[in-house]
Amino acid sequence: MQEVYINLGIRSYSIYVDTGLLPRLGEYLKVFKLTPRVLLITNPVVGSLYGAVAETALMNAGFEVIRAEIPDGEEYKNLATAEKLYDLAYTRELDRRSPVVALGGGVVGDLAGFVAATYLRGVPFIQVPTTLLAQVDSSVGGKVAVNHPRGKNIIGAFYQPRLVLADLDVLKTLDLREVRAGLAEVIKYGVIADRAFFVWLEENLERLLALEAEPLAHAVAASCRIKARVVQEDETEQGRRAILNFGHTLGHALEALTGYTAYRHGEAVAMGMAAAARLAVALGMFPEGDAVRVINLIRRAGLPVEIPPELSTGDLVASMRRDKKVLAGRLTFVLPVEIGRVEIVRDVPEEAVGRVLRLCYN
Ligand code: NAD
Ligand code: MG
Repeated sequence: MQEVYINLGIRSYSIYVDTGLLPRLGEYLKVFKLTPRVLLITNPVVGSLYGAVAETALMNAGFEVIRAEIPDGEEYKNLATAEKLYDLAYTRELDRRSPVVALGGGVVGDLAGFVAATYLRGVPFIQVPTTLLAQVDSSVGGKVAVNHPRGKNIIGAFYQPRLVLADLDVLKTLDLREVRAGLAEVIKYGVIADRAFFVWLEENLERLLALEAEPLAHAVAASCRIKARVVQEDETEQGRRAILNFGHTLGHALEALTGYTAYRHGEAVAMGMAAAARLAVALGMFPEGDAVRVINLIRRAGLPVEIPPELSTGDLVASMRRDKKVLAGRLTFVLPVEIGRVEIVRDVPEEAVGRVLRLCYN
């Protein structure tokens, strides 16, 4: 068992990473002072695979379970779905100490977290992330949100869970494409903050793709520790937390230009990381050999490293200019200076960005 302790004063909590955790969900919840009525939020896919195990675990620990299934898909991560959950919570008389448990990927986690943060001004929130991306990224850091028709994650809050249970067994039913997409964020952590972890990934990538429990536990826990370290320094994203956006400046543009349908987020980030590595080389900040290592590792994970020709450089640059994280129209990139260390570079000349992007097509 790996435990990652997130130290945020009274909002501190633990992330447990292991196999066999889901059947013990009830035991883990029992240690908190909670009303024994749980709102378990999941979707039909995850619900049919793991809903019964979760419910039995909770019932055996004395909880009454109200199960809510939201439709599968990013398009349902919105206020309309949240409102249905508020209705259910209200009708079933959930009170301030009734926990909301999110059983699912990042969509379920973000939405359930948003509901937990806002219903009665906040009720206890428990994350049981079931995708690799959710285990290494969305369940760490306390961001919860729903989408607005005009943009992703526009309506949200910072709201920390009481507990995160990352059960590695549930990843076995995940599409390989989802596993690869999650690995993009894992590779990101190595590049931005931990050279030794990056080297370990180079040595263990195939074992991760095969979902071997022991290396997976290490990769998930190490990723959570790195994200936690960054988040602890900057809980509400004033500065340094932005290094987590390595690969995301271009990644967001790729997603936006393709209407969020062509790529999994991790795939877009993979192309974004490859481009950022090349941009850092072009700006004389990053050794070419290191860029080759980063790009090779992304490729070995089965992720794209080249931009498809139908997306023009001009459109990509224009889209990056509109990104909500770009301040005053300047192009900001997180760029590596060595494997394990990145800098936030503001005012990257658009000309350099365009020149490098043109080298990134297949
Ligand atoms: P997702 O939640 O849509 O899950 C991907 C697919 O896998 C879905 O079809 C889901 O039903 C299925 N699935 C989930 N677990 C499964 C399992 N164990 N076996 C089989 N199928 C399973 O996508 P995601 O990539 O997990 O999350 C993406 C979301 O996370 C986005 O909405 C994004 O904005 C959000 N996110 C949030 C943060 C944050 O800090 N809060 C960070 C990164 C991403
Ligand atoms: Mg991301």
